[in-house]
Amino acid sequence: MKNEKAVVVFSGGQDSTTCLFWALSKFKEVTTVTFDYGQRHAVEIEYARKIAEELEVPFKELDMQLINQLSANALTRDEIPISEEEGELPSTFVPGRNHLFLSFAAVHAQTIGAQHIITGVSQTDFSGYPDCRDTFIKSLNVTLNLAMDAQFVIHTPLMWRDKKQVWELSDRFGALEFVQEKTVTCYNGVPSSGCGECPACQLRNDGLEAYLAEKTGGAAK
Ligand code: ZN
Repeated sequence: MKNEKAVVVFSGGQDSTTCLFWALSKFKEVTTVTFDYGQRHAVEIEYARKIAEELEVPFKELDMQLINQLSANALTRDEIPISEEEGELPSTFVPGRNHLFLSFAAVHAQTIGAQHIITGVSQTDFSGYPDCRDTFIKSLNVTLNLAMDAQFVIHTPLMWRDKKQVWELSDRFGALEFVQEKTVTCYNGVPSSGCGECPACQLRNDGLEAYLAEKTGGAAK
């Protein structure tokens, strides 16, 4: 897949940073697009910018604050607690987020002549977000191609990996420490290993612990 251009939907978190390394190993020209939707962890945008600079890839920030005007959820309203209840969408679900982000990424891709779009969604450690599922991505891929008379390929390198396997993938690119130190996954915007309390931190840190235990020949499987 060399000699082709790719756009990475990039948030400065563990998943999309791992996807960025994945894309850099596959495509000749890689660019990133980051969305400002008034997220409570807006600090992630600054981390995304710094990572892009360090890896010398173009960084494009798009204003998507209109999502915030339309819906209230725990990621866009400080007063809404982060909660996950059985049988309900998590309070951190932002309706339309991945649909809109990928659609705008596709507009950007078409503008710069890129065929490939990469997103770090995964349904393995299922967050409860319907727009992280494989069927949604495949459906949107068809829709975008029809909408824009294009032949985009949406890549989801993390779709079938759990968090431990995402850490393993970053290690394969020699980027384990980079991802550990320079990304923000935490819903409260605390970089690196984060606040340690929110669901995003727990998933990230448990995955890292499991991976490191396996790597050093520990008991964890
Ligand atoms: Zn956290």
